[in-house]
Amino acid sequence: MTCESPDSAADTTNNMTASRYAILFEPLRIGPVTTRNRFYQVPHCSGMGHRRPQMLAAMRGLKAEGGWGVVCTEYCSIGADSDDGHYPHARLWDEEDLKAQALVAEAIHAHGALAGVELWHGGSTVSNLSTRLPTLGVRSLPATHSTLDPIQSRPMDLADIRDLRRRHRAAAERALQAGFDIVYVYANHGYLLHEFLSPRRNDRSDHYGGALENRARLVREILEDTREAVEGKAALACRFSLAAEEGGDYLETEESRDLFGLLAELPDLWDITIDGYTTEMGSSRYVKEAAQEDIVKQAKAMTSKPVVGVGRFTSPDTMVAQIKRGALDLIGAARPSIADPFLPNKIAEGRPDEIRECIGCNLCYAHNSLGVPIRCTQNPTMGEEWRRDWHPERIPARHAEARVLVVGGGPAGLEAARALGQRGYGVTLAEAGEELGGRVTRESRLPGLAEWSRVRDWRLGRLAEMAGVETYLASRLDKAQVLELGAEHVILATGARWAKDGVGRWLAEPFEGWQRDAVLTPDDLMDGQRPEGPVLIYDDDHYYMGACVALLLRTAGQAVTLVTPQGAVGHWTTYTEELSRTNARLIEEGVELITNHGLVGFDGESARLACSFTGRERAQPAAAVVPVTRRIPEDALYAELRDDSEGLAAAGIRSLQKIGDGNAPSTIAAAVYAGHKAARELGANIAAFDARRERAVLE
Ligand code: ADP
Ligand code: SF4
Repeated sequence: MTCESPDSAADTTNNMTASRYAILFEPLRIGPVTTRNRFYQVPHCSGMGHRRPQMLAAMRGLKAEGGWGVVCTEYCSIGADSDDGHYPHARLWDEEDLKAQALVAEAIHAHGALAGVELWHGGSTVSNLSTRLPTLGVRSLPATHSTLDPIQSRPMDLADIRDLRRRHRAAAERALQAGFDIVYVYANHGYLLHEFLSPRRNDRSDHYGGALENRARLVREILEDTREAVEGKAALACRFSLAAEEGGDYLETEESRDLFGLLAELPDLWDITIDGYTTEMGSSRYVKEAAQEDIVKQAKAMTSKPVVGVGRFTSPDTMVAQIKRGALDLIGAARPSIADPFLPNKIAEGRPDEIRECIGCNLCYAHNSLGVPIRCTQNPTMGEEWRRDWHPERIPARHAEARVLVVGGGPAGLEAARALGQRGYGVTLAEAGEELGGRVTRESRLPGLAEWSRVRDWRLGRLAEMAGVETYLASRLDKAQVLELGAEHVILATGARWAKDGVGRWLAEPFEGWQRDAVLTPDDLMDGQRPEGPVLIYDDDHYYMGACVALLLRTAGQAVTLVTPQGAVGHWTTYTEELSRTNARLIEEGVELITNHGLVGFDGESARLACSFTGRERAQPAAAVVPVTRRIPEDALYAELRDDSEGLAAAGIRSLQKIGDGNAPSTIAAAVYAGHKAARELGANIAAFDARRERAVLE
């Protein structure tokens, strides 16, 4: 019998992992350039774009540092008539933009990755609200981006098409000068080139409309122009969508294949998606890992060129299987690279268990849609790489030896304890309940939210490796216990509870009858309570909770009515790309939806609703009511401690703070961020918004 040292056992495991995943690390030639591996960060929006170039360069550079072989920009406008208003996209309009993009390419090259740029013209989708130029379209169509501005495009004539080709070519030349290795022609997602391809959009009678070859003409011409512009120095990529069996938003199934067939050998690389953005960008509530496999595989079978496809891939086994099954050549990722910029390196180093897996909540995407830098539920450092110098893997060591007490094991408390442990602090984590994870554990049991438990699981995995962090379950601490525990720093992450009184955006005072036993909160339902008879859910929260509790009760066979003062259920989920799927699902499941109404009273047998516009009231039969309107921070323990400065001093407690939902209820991302920030800044004298800012240049 031989005895193996722990180090050699680890080496053996790493070697086994390395050989199992070796295919992911094979270089691949893409036209004139070669990627070092198969990890490909496809273009994804960042909310940084032309407004925050330094923030952007640092974020993309970190992906390259984390091992991605290719790192691309977001959609990069070729000219002032492709201006997406409040969405901060990239730009290559002129020499100034070139400098900003060169910064991005340089940051990517600094870590040995290839830099890709996605040249873009928005066509009729955009409104040009900043530049105030008329928009251009295949025909005159109203702007479709989510603000639904009252603006229509000008139908492009042949001179416009010639001008567009000239400007696209000029942008490709600037891309080359900026140092990009891969230049995209962007022919999907409803933008200008997709409009030309789609018979539903293109009704032209000239030689750019009608027959398939005609509708493909502009894409072909722009591919040829871009090929010339990059002079064999950069690879030519094309982003294209195939329709699923039931047809797509822009093309029918067969036609999308025929079109692809016409273009199949023109670029050096195909970036393939499905023609249906709510699937491609679907949240984990509705779309699972590798959902586009069949579509991407069909494209791959029709071309000799390398193919990249996305699928919210976080499992290296799935990635290997995708390549081995011939579905694709390159593992495309946007969200998985946001949640874990070091995903490739973790696989390479035999640490796949340490991958911080994307939970598919689409909060990143939502923030681009809101015109601010993206953030991530799993990765609190996303967007803070430049302005706060936060690194997703490294954290400064503690300033001095000290014991920290973290009260509450939800996302805020777990992340605080983990990051403090990483800094080398001794940490005591006390949780009142029998399990860790707080709201994440509870909410991940609601319909569709199972993957959200990854927020807890990744942190538990890291905590298990830390000798300096002690965790105590079933330990609801009171003031005396906090003072007795001998910590020098106390962080309270005690969470929030849903309110019963219906007060929120629409109701300033509690609704009549709110104290009845038959009024239950989402917390009551998550604790297992079930109302009798028909239930009315009153959703003035407008995120996921209203719909999730409706489905929870409906799938248990209860009659459910969902009332909201807005025009659709889950108004805010328009930003997470979930709104239409959620409303469709509720309707399909038989939940009655009453929009544009608020709740004013409940007598045990029926609810009184009022029209949001007229105030006109109506009765709706209901035996129980579940208000989903606001949460109340659990901050009583904080207040007691704060008010006892003598007790704190006598106990040797030097700092006390409350974080997360117990401070200000918000998203899970905000709670994780608060935990991370508290841990990073412990012992440092940092003001609440002590971060670099990008400033406008004053000429
Ligand atoms: P957040 O999102 O801010 O992390 P959560 O509500 O998810 O908030 O988690 C808060 C956690 O704090 C819950 O698991 C709750 O049981 C725990 N908690 C609340 N008060 C105490 C307390 N006094 N002692 C220990 N744990 C507590
Ligand atoms: Fe994934 Fe959510 Fe992070 Fe986006 S915000 S990368 S969907 S975990």
